Amino acid sequence: MPPHGQPHGHMYAPPQSPIGYGPAFGYAYGGGWAPARADGALLDYPVHGAPLPPICCKCGTRHGLKTRMQSIVWVNPLAWLGALGGLLPLAVMIAFMQKRIQVMLPICPTCDSRWTQGTVLRWLSFLAPFVLAPVFGAFVGLFVQSDDAFALALLVGFVLLILLPILTVKLVSEPRAITAKRIDDHRALLKGVHADLLRSL
Ligand SMILES: [Zn+2]
Repeated sequence: MPPHGQPHGHMYAPPQSPIGYGPAFGYAYGGGWAPARADGALLDYPVHGAPLPPICCKCGTRHGLKTRMQSIVWVNPLAWLGALGGLLPLAVMIAFMQKRIQVMLPICPTCDSRWTQGTVLRWLSFLAPFVLAPVFGAFVGLFVQSDDAFALALLVGFVLLILLPILTVKLVSEPRAITAKRIDDHRALLKGVHADLLRSL
């Protein structure tokens, strides 16, 4: 970060802290204070927290807002290399290469419950294969006589059961949530924040 001449310099007091940001709008969080900023369509948010304007983070309304305390996790993509060693190395790599932040988000009750429903549906879609796969296998076995057709039906079934969680996350859970594109020791880049909130930063 350049110590002087930030792109939104007119909005902030002159730099007073060692990392180059001064308190703005009367908020003061000590020496490490930094504001939340818009980075294109992303929210650039300091990991120690920053106030956000009273605008729903999902739909942009300014009425009837509440606060959602949300933990947002980012897993370094390199962690997936752990899969080469099997499930246990993968789990260990994910545990060690993830970063997590707590965000206090302004949100309206509708968006808040849609987000929660999306999270529930995600868990259901991950658990569903364990319930659906045996039922599907038994069902196919009852009606299909040929071994080849049975194998093909099972293959199609398993592909669907893998696609179900992926599609649920991509089409249902993520659009209703705010997720991290990247989190480092200082800042988090968050996706899915409404443009009106980003514009008012
Ligand atoms: Zn909303």
